[in-house]
Amino acid sequence: MDRRFACERDRRALETARAPVSASGARDTDRRYAGELLGMGVPRADKRMIATVEIDGCFADGVSVATGCWLGRRTLRVVDYGKVAATFVNVQTEVAVRIWPAADARARAEHFARAAPDRRHAQLAAYQVIPATQLLQTCYVRVNAKLVSTDSGRLICAGCSEEILNQRNVVREGLVLCRACTGDAYYTSVHESNFEACLRELEERIER
Ligand SMILES: [Zn+2]
Repeated sequence: MDRRFACERDRRALETARAPVSASGARDTDRRYAGELLGMGVPRADKRMIATVEIDGCFADGVSVATGCWLGRRTLRVVDYGKVAATFVNVQTEVAVRIWPAADARARAEHFARAAPDRRHAQLAAYQVIPATQLLQTCYVRVNAKLVSTDSGRLICAGCSEEILNQRNVVREGLVLCRACTGDAYYTSVHESNFEACLRELEERIER
């Protein structure tokens, strides 16, 4: 296994994202996924591709390695659905393709490499040679979220007074709001009035 990848999911992410720019001519025709479906070579050194991964962890790292899309470059988004899937967008054409493993990919791999000592090794061996078209499913999609911000200005949320960058604000009834203030928060504020109660509840849980 390629040592750049921490686990099999890394490698699978690479398979998902790699364009036909690899050395093997025979394999080139099989690896026409994210890059080729969008008419782009990967990994990218520019910001013309944006990848959205639907799970965190090593799959996301693998997608970054394969595509050149990174959180730090603002070309990778994480929308945590807990699914091994990713969507790749050509920023210039706005063509987007979502890629995910075929439901029978594991079974197909195990059947293919029956001599392997265990399922994991079977998958690793089989994924090297089974055409990507048999392992992955693809669908062209339209991305609903605004991926590229054209204005780097700062706005102040009318609800919480915090700054919002990169045009990630929402306008409701004429008010500029952050996503959290529209009810889309991933957290709930613990007010001082019930802080003690929350603390007691946590202590009880620890004692149990
Ligand atoms: Zn707010």
